[in-house]
Amino acid sequence: MDVFDGNSSEHANLPRNMIENSMFEEEPDVVDLAKDSAAFPTFPALDPDEVAYEPCSSRLLVRGLGENDMDEDEEDCESSARLLGMSFMNRSSAHRSTSSPFSRQSPPRTCSRPSARTMVVCVLFLVIVASMTMVLYFLPGCNFTRTGCRKPNKTTPIESIYPLSTNGELFPWAQLRLPLSIRPLSYDLTLNPDLDNMTFTGRIVINMAVLHNRKCIVLHGSNLNITKATFKLGDGQVHDVTVLEFKPKQQLAVKFSEELKAGQHCVLTLDYSAKLSHTYDGFYNSSYSDKDGNKRVLAATQFEPLSARKAFPCFDEPAFKATFLIKIIRKPNYMALSNMPKANSTPLHNGLVQDEFEKTSVNMSTYLLAFIVANFTSNSKNVSETVVSVYSVPEKKEHTYYALDTASKLLKFYNEFFEIDYPLKKLDLVAIPDFLAGAMENWGLITFRETTLLVGKQSSPLEKQVVASVIAHELAHQWFGNLVTMRWWNDLWLNEGFATYMQYMSLQTVLPKLDIGNLFLAVRFRALDKDALNSSHAVSTEVNTAEQVEEMFDSVSYEKGASILLMLNTSLPGDQQFRKGIIQYLKQFSGSNTDTDDLWNSLTQVEVSTQHQNISEMMSSWTSQKGFPLVTISRKGDQVNLTQEHFLLTTDNATHTSSLWNIPVTYVNDSCSLAPECRQVFTLNTKSGTFKLPESVKWLKLNYRNTGFYIVHYGDEGWAALKDALSKNISVLTNDDRASLIHNIFALSRLGRVSFDQVLNVLKCMSKETETSPVTEALLQLNRIYGLLDKRQETNIVSRMKKYILAHFGSLMNKQTWEEEDSVSKQELRSALLQTACSLAEENCTQQAKSLFKTYVESNGTFRIPGDLQQVVFTVAAQSDEDWSTLLSMYHYVTYDAEKRKMLQGLASTQDTRRLVWILNTGLKGDHIQTQELPLVISTVCNGFAGYLFAWDFIQENWDRLIEKFPVGSFAIQSIIKSATSQFSTQAHLDQVQAFFFSLKERGSQMRSVQEALETIRLNQRWMDRNLSTLRNWL
Ligand SMILES: [Zn+2]
Repeated sequence: MDVFDGNSSEHANLPRNMIENSMFEEEPDVVDLAKDSAAFPTFPALDPDEVAYEPCSSRLLVRGLGENDMDEDEEDCESSARLLGMSFMNRSSAHRSTSSPFSRQSPPRTCSRPSARTMVVCVLFLVIVASMTMVLYFLPGCNFTRTGCRKPNKTTPIESIYPLSTNGELFPWAQLRLPLSIRPLSYDLTLNPDLDNMTFTGRIVINMAVLHNRKCIVLHGSNLNITKATFKLGDGQVHDVTVLEFKPKQQLAVKFSEELKAGQHCVLTLDYSAKLSHTYDGFYNSSYSDKDGNKRVLAATQFEPLSARKAFPCFDEPAFKATFLIKIIRKPNYMALSNMPKANSTPLHNGLVQDEFEKTSVNMSTYLLAFIVANFTSNSKNVSETVVSVYSVPEKKEHTYYALDTASKLLKFYNEFFEIDYPLKKLDLVAIPDFLAGAMENWGLITFRETTLLVGKQSSPLEKQVVASVIAHELAHQWFGNLVTMRWWNDLWLNEGFATYMQYMSLQTVLPKLDIGNLFLAVRFRALDKDALNSSHAVSTEVNTAEQVEEMFDSVSYEKGASILLMLNTSLPGDQQFRKGIIQYLKQFSGSNTDTDDLWNSLTQVEVSTQHQNISEMMSSWTSQKGFPLVTISRKGDQVNLTQEHFLLTTDNATHTSSLWNIPVTYVNDSCSLAPECRQVFTLNTKSGTFKLPESVKWLKLNYRNTGFYIVHYGDEGWAALKDALSKNISVLTNDDRASLIHNIFALSRLGRVSFDQVLNVLKCMSKETETSPVTEALLQLNRIYGLLDKRQETNIVSRMKKYILAHFGSLMNKQTWEEEDSVSKQELRSALLQTACSLAEENCTQQAKSLFKTYVESNGTFRIPGDLQQVVFTVAAQSDEDWSTLLSMYHYVTYDAEKRKMLQGLASTQDTRRLVWILNTGLKGDHIQTQELPLVISTVCNGFAGYLFAWDFIQENWDRLIEKFPVGSFAIQSIIKSATSQFSTQAHLDQVQAFFFSLKERGSQMRSVQEALETIRLNQRWMDRNLSTLRNWL
């Protein structure tokens, strides 16, 4: 449950100490911080909505004032009302400062024994509450979702009730976001990690500027044991201060008896100790076995989004940018790395060494800070003014060359593309043996999983594609995210959407052989699938809790963000407008923070053609509302009519939204359909629109190469004309357009607009299809349905569906080779085809896979299975008892991570239930299988018939341990929930899933991914209800 998100459900779940203190102290004064905000023009101006009630503000609060203004019974009613979620913050000042019964630590009494007067008041009050609730409930559009009706007030009065610190004193702040009255200027951090005992001590010196008169400083800190705290104001004396802590919000505070005055500078120095984290965030320990089998330990950081506070006290929000000076004390046999180059190393008297790094030359957000203490080796190269280095554990040094070369090329590309040079003197890319995310863009010290950075000499192009795309993504962040940063996590897409878009765009130019276009197309399809659900959210969306911050790291921020940027770029009249606009944006906001509007304004301001286009107007329809449009086309004579509506997958037929988008609809027709010049554009920004087209035009294909973020329904006639054209000649459309038709027809079937017969007819006319994108999309969609039928044990249909897939793709499957293949596109095609073939137990495929595995085992390491075939070969092998054990022993000694992961996928695909239980438990324990791989293990187990119910039980039983490893809302948890539930399609499973997540309360029930899971099951159920009979008849 989201305890702090300001909606009505939170109030009953306030932490006990918050309720207990709900009226202990007076109502705070409202301070207009905005008035003085011009004093520091570089700091974000205050949004009046964000102006907070600050208890440590200029006016003193007097404890106990007016305590007798209300009689006890009235207080009791009021307390009950408070628990009902009603605001009393606007009541008269006489009532403001009363204490509640809670303040006396007595159990809350209700209105059960009140005086007659109070009784009347209470009854009246409850009637009002009930009526208001009814009115709200029946308001159109209000369905009491997680955000409730409309935007909840950010400064919900109940949040301004001050909680208790751990020492029992009142904590002077009650909100998630820090007050803007104090701004950090620089941090001086000394860390002394002890890798033998997995602890560290630290000293942080924070220089701050006071922006507004204030009697307290509030900052972040989590699980840090503060041992000494001193404070110095201006040129005054250094004196000891007490640091208060409010654990639920991971905040620290220092209160003062005298006001700190705007314009003053001050210094807070804190000594502290803490444990190295055993999860994947904060300052955490990681370990690996070296080539001799010895366990080696290291310490590394992962701060995004909310974990810098776990390593040192800081103002842990992206808008609080500052400079950092880092010193790390280490044993001589270790090395230390941080964002900046090392300035000097000093031997200490106790045999340790202190490395001091240069002070950051740029202002940066706390989440981008990083440091590592380990035993790594590196390869380096100069790229203009920057030394690029790739670090790994010593035995993998030879696997760093590809990354070094790729990073150097991409750095050069971005320096030129953005017309702003990368600002630091060094850029380190480090492969961390145990790392949860794919990679993290820390400024100057990018951290990666080994699989996303290291490739061997023999690695397949597909493995190189993975590495190159992750590097391209993280390097793009050095500009998008690091140089210009979103102001708050609600606009995370400004970081992630951009980096994702740039990763595909840069690779198309820098490494065209990697054929990244197919991958980007598939990514856009998946983004559409997810955004079609009611549980989706707007690209730029309100974020009020820590869990909601975690949840922003999802496909909407990354993939939809990238998709709408592609749509914008391809719809602008001049091919340089997009680039010029983003250069202007980066230059204008370099070193500061932005909102989505800042980006659109920069792009609008750049005029490169006479055709003026208001980009803000167009793009805000894509970032401020969830979902995307379904464009339906109909023709009458020379008139082409287009209409738009929200493509919303819902089982509730009554749900319609009035959302409208500003859509740059592109189209090609039978006279010219392949080259970019054929593309024509029609802007549809109303419910419907019309354009003219000669009647002689036989067919139209909308959304040329699927660069727009919408789905198209051609109507019976439109589909028939396209099918007719494709049956005669499949090459009348580009590969991307054919894949787009396949994706769209399946999506329309899921929406209930076309029957499954029509889907199969579209596939039929493409039976000669041999290109990667359309084939892989068709296979993915068919496998999805196959999986659902299989899990429902619709045995007859399953076997007939299998026959259909093999009949449709069989000849193409048989044409695939099992040798090394250079083309990425061909590798993608054959691995998709062969994985399907072998999973359907197609004889030829399984025989080939078995014999390849045999050769591999017997060769004693001299024979290598092509990278793209490893997964299918290991999966087939793992189905036999003997080979599963062989694979397991190989898994233990293989050091090359990409291969190791595919072995793990093989192991997890076993249908032997004892082994499934073993592999799930071992993944959770993290000894033989690293916990970072657990989401992958779970998703693989869920794919199999034997495993999907086991996995679901496993998740329910181990939920608390899972959320200890992966935070609630995090991408890992989102992925686990999706894997476990997306193949359910029955009412019984829906009930089970609903009951389990509902029972979690604050341990996860409010997650968006839970809503998504429930919706998906309902949609699966509906699809089955509608199509099972068709399938029975047809197949
Ligand atoms: Zn990113």
